[in-house]
Amino acid sequence: MRKPILIGNWKMNGSLHANQALMVRVLPRLRMFRKTIDLAVCPPFPYLFQVRDLLGYTGIALGAQNASSFVSGAYTGEVSATMLQEMGCRYVLVGHSERRALFAESSLEVAARYRSVLAAGLTPVLCVGETLAERESNQTGLVIERQLQAVIDEVGLAAMANGIIAYEPVWAIGTGKTATPKQVARVHQEIRLFIANSAPEASDDISQQLRVIYGGSVKAANAFELFSLADVDGGLIGGASLHADEFGTIAGALAEASGLVASECEIN
Ligand code: PEP
Repeated sequence: MRKPILIGNWKMNGSLHANQALMVRVLPRLRMFRKTIDLAVCPPFPYLFQVRDLLGYTGIALGAQNASSFVSGAYTGEVSATMLQEMGCRYVLVGHSERRALFAESSLEVAARYRSVLAAGLTPVLCVGETLAERESNQTGLVIERQLQAVIDEVGLAAMANGIIAYEPVWAIGTGKTATPKQVARVHQEIRLFIANSAPEASDDISQQLRVIYGGSVKAANAFELFSLADVDGGLIGGASLHADEFGTIAGALAEASGLVASECEIN
């Protein structure tokens, strides 16, 4: 049984004041679902300490948006996974398409970062997905397989079971365009199949254990339909995670889609 997870990616947004205001409004809504789904928020690095305090003992986890492949040293501007671990992070996004496209992080680089996150005892959330041009030229499967293979080559298939995969079609991120349920279902199935076929001796278990979540313009209006798909184990939410009501409703949709009616969720 895979426990669903909802992760908010704040990207480069926020301020001390705005973060506090958002948490005050959203935490009571999220706490209702904390026993039935895993929840996490990923603020920018400078706010990790503040958000860790605001999360307190709510059971909602802290995550970061990236981590260096190095442990320490002369790497100006980088933040290591061990530092994130010390700050109380549990999850780290790796290979977000904005990192790949805007900051030239190659699949090899992403794989090295994935390894460092695992080595620090944290859960990497590996983002994979195709551009519009790649989809239109029927390259979706190939592109995603290459992105996954780079990480499997670096850490081995067994270690993938300790991570989460986020399917995020690049053309759907921050654009308001959401992949259709049919498109999402197909890619999630293909990801699980690719893992299952990667090392037939053990990979069946890994592919069934692995959480594969969807990201790309998820909002309250479309969350339930997407989260109801059999191979979708939750969501990575960008823009909508900055709006308390919207994010709270998306969390409710995930809990409900997972067959957990509100009365089964903890009230308070
Ligand atoms: C993201 O940043 O991972 C994301 C999915 O963004 P959005 O929800 O805004 O499309």
